[in-house]
Amino acid sequence: MTASRSAREKKAATEAGPLAKVKIDLDENQQFVYKISCAVCLAKGHRNWSAYRPGGDNGFMAAMDRWTFHLNEKHPGSDAPCLAFLPAAQQRLHERRLAQEADPTA
Ligand SMILES: [Zn+2]
Repeated sequence: MTASRSAREKKAATEAGPLAKVKIDLDENQQFVYKISCAVCLAKGHRNWSAYRPGGDNGFMAAMDRWTFHLNEKHPGSDAPCLAFLPAAQQRLHERRLAQEADPTA
């Protein structure tokens, strides 16, 4: 468990790029909780920007999508591998919104 957690943390940090601080915690159900915070927005003393999502691969994907949007919006020139997945992240967001419109209780 611990080994796979740190391996995931390392992989996520690589994908998220040099501005990201990635941390994976365990919640009370021993589920992964992904937290990606921004080193720049932190250093400037603004509100501590971070994406925080529980869950397995879905949580990882959701946190990474949020982070990718943050990078694209605030730090568009940064050198982060996850920016290559921006179109896919936007497509997922679009699909989530469509699904919510179709069924607001989901
Ligand atoms: Zn930032």
